[in-house]
Amino acid sequence: LSSRASGILSALNIPTNQEISGVYDGQWKGSGEVVESVCPTTGEILARINTASPADVSGALTKSREAYLQFRDVPAPRRGEILRQIREGLAIKREELGALVTLEMGKIRTEGVGEVQEFIDICDYAVGLSRMMNGRVVASERPGHTILEVPNPLGVVAVLSAFNFPVAVYGWNLALSLAAGNATIWKPSPTTPLTSIAVTSIVAKVLEKNNLPGALAGLVTGGQPVGEVLVGSKEVELVSFTGSERVGRIVGQAVVSRFGKSILELGGNNASIVMPDADLSLAVPGVFFGAVGTAGQRCTSTRRLFLHRDIADEFLERLQKLYGALKPGDPLETDTLLGPMHTPAAVNLYKSTIDYLRSIDADILFGGKEYDVTPYDGGNFVQPTIAVPKSVDMSDRIWSTETFAPILNVAIFDELEEAIRWNNAVPQGLSSSLWTRDLRNVGKWTGPSGSDAGIVNVNAGTSGAEIGASFGGNKSTGWGRESGGDAWKQYVRWSACTINFSNEAPLAQGVNFNV
Ligand code: NAD
Repeated sequence: LSSRASGILSALNIPTNQEISGVYDGQWKGSGEVVESVCPTTGEILARINTASPADVSGALTKSREAYLQFRDVPAPRRGEILRQIREGLAIKREELGALVTLEMGKIRTEGVGEVQEFIDICDYAVGLSRMMNGRVVASERPGHTILEVPNPLGVVAVLSAFNFPVAVYGWNLALSLAAGNATIWKPSPTTPLTSIAVTSIVAKVLEKNNLPGALAGLVTGGQPVGEVLVGSKEVELVSFTGSERVGRIVGQAVVSRFGKSILELGGNNASIVMPDADLSLAVPGVFFGAVGTAGQRCTSTRRLFLHRDIADEFLERLQKLYGALKPGDPLETDTLLGPMHTPAAVNLYKSTIDYLRSIDADILFGGKEYDVTPYDGGNFVQPTIAVPKSVDMSDRIWSTETFAPILNVAIFDELEEAIRWNNAVPQGLSSSLWTRDLRNVGKWTGPSGSDAGIVNVNAGTSGAEIGASFGGNKSTGWGRESGGDAWKQYVRWSACTINFSNEAPLAQGVNFNV
């Protein structure tokens, strides 16, 4: 193993000379397929992981159920105290864990560390929440009666996550799920197993110190077969799935067919709209980060750019200057802004989309190929691309599908209404952003005739959400909400309790049933 990688692994106590157990249910194990964790920057094999066999998954689910039965009676503020300790454990290893995200996923270092910070932040949030997960007292129409709406723990929550946020998405789910009194079992992306093992080790230590079962935060690494067992299991009350629309459609249908609950966080196809009155010194870098940050591999990455005709030329000139200043680099180096794509498959997707752009005669203003010189030969580096397709028919696949790569497609508009129509004309509805100084535009954009996405920003780019608001998208993005806002309400079982304190037992709506 290179010294570049071994330093990061050993700082997190991950052994470098043996196969690593990828299942945790109170004990570390793994008797399934062996998968390799591959560094996207260098192509180096970082580790071999023993993933979960079907027997490992069903054993872990049994342990999760037992853990839930014990944990559900722990008072919520006490559960918050566990989260506070998890927060501390993460904060101590913030830099090391962030570096591991960078090593294994390929995003730049500040983003890797930022993800760990997001987990820390949501723990803080959930500590507070643990004293505020309140139900309601409802006015009863019957004398001497009270109706309570009580949030009770739900059961076992399975978290299936995507490769691009290998820490934060699990963090959002674990924090709320644990505060709500559930056991959580995590199936991470098969291409980021080391990160999930390092995170689970930190959480497991806290549980152990508090004499709580490790299966409260279980881990089953592996691919589709492992995911399918969790999704199909009646032992799982809630499936929280983050990933592509293609897989989300399968998962959503499988869960509903057994009347389970699901939260779906699927693909985005996010647009930025720039009005003629926008402050371009904010809008140009905002769009640049949205389109190129994380090498275009955020669910909220800017994929469509709608420019008002009056500022289009100037905007594109300034944007191309920023693109021109980018150099691919080792994402572990602090001055790198552009790291690799996650896998060779992602590079192929990039290439086939560029081929398609050429086939429809789009103007490729920037990029459109791999770099001639890259920091490492084995890395998955591609040039971020700006293209202007000839057609603005949003049903064409170049506009209507999410290409998970740094490709920005541009169209020119004359009226805001037209740009909003384009914004809303795709199946997905995750994030959107409008750049303007005119209050009337803001009112239209955020109101009923405005953006139909879950995230509707003004003078802020499409990506980079904070944890305080609920996060998620509409339409084929799945309607799920996670993190802040009211998202916690999905992780509990609501009990509507009518309590009669009186000496009579009247029926509701005045129904008379006396013989
Ligand atoms: P993916 O859909 O390929 O995989 C997601 C997870 O599903 C993985 O853990 C995978 O192993 C598992 N899986 C695959 N087939 C399965 C099956 N049949 N049953 C159960 N599980 C199965 O997604 P990806 O390539 O890892 O991630 C990229 C996608 O995720 C993009 O579309 C991106 O927009 C989306 N994403 C969405 C959000 C959001 O909050 N909306 C956040 C991050 C990523």
